[in-house]
Amino acid sequence: MAAPLLQVRALHAGYGPTQVLHGLDFEIEEGSITALLGANGAGKTTTLRALCGMVRTGGEVRFGGQRIDGRATEDIVRLGVAHVPDGRGTFTDLSTEENLRLGAYARRDRSALAEDSARVYRLFPILAERRHQQAGTLSGGQQQMLAVARALMLRPRLLLLDEPSFGLAPMVVKEIFAAMREINRTQQVTILLVEQNAAMALRLADRAHLLETGRLVRSGSSTELMNDDAVRRAYLGY
Ligand code: ATP
Repeated sequence: MAAPLLQVRALHAGYGPTQVLHGLDFEIEEGSITALLGANGAGKTTTLRALCGMVRTGGEVRFGGQRIDGRATEDIVRLGVAHVPDGRGTFTDLSTEENLRLGAYARRDRSALAEDSARVYRLFPILAERRHQQAGTLSGGQQQMLAVARALMLRPRLLLLDEPSFGLAPMVVKEIFAAMREINRTQQVTILLVEQNAAMALRLADRAHLLETGRLVRSGSSTELMNDDAVRRAYLGY
């Protein structure tokens, strides 16, 4: 069997003297969707930041068999890990198209840029209509789509998504989740998704982990977590 795309062993991370993650162990298979669930402050955002070298870490992270812990974020991005942070991080003064072009900055092969923009515009047709519009004037949902589209311009193998549904209307959330499924199925991008909307995340994901105060307290298939009493009571409300 192929080695997992991502292997995480005893991952610790924190800010200054504050330890936030206390030894996470998990693996992600290529082609899968994994949901990371947990209450506010559990350390979900910190986990994504740790995987892409944005916080001080201890432990071991392997991506495609190579050690990536301790490496610069830019190197990790070049290896194929794209991060869509919470708050989206689009350049609000630039147009949709300029944001997409910037998204491809770390690519060595720039020849396929036109093809890749066409592909993300097919995924999010509204962005094609708004290609010359300043990103800051797009709706919240469109800005989230742009953040995902910009990350896809890197042609990542692994996409880290931090709360893509945050603050969006239910119809838009549905659209974003449908796009994630499409990205996973047709572009073979592996996804690690941090979500407050546990019900939707579990419906989308193959596997899920529950993080509590910096430790994984449940890991399993989405079906197993959906049927877990603690997950149901705290995150699914039934
Ligand atoms: P949320 O859904 O609220 O974002 P989370 O599970 O993503 O929660 P994190 O954002 O990873 O949690 O935060 C975990 C802990 O780390 C919290 O106690 C938070 O206060 C702390 N923390 C986060 N960012 C920083 C920072 N830049 N400096 C210091 N402490 C931080």
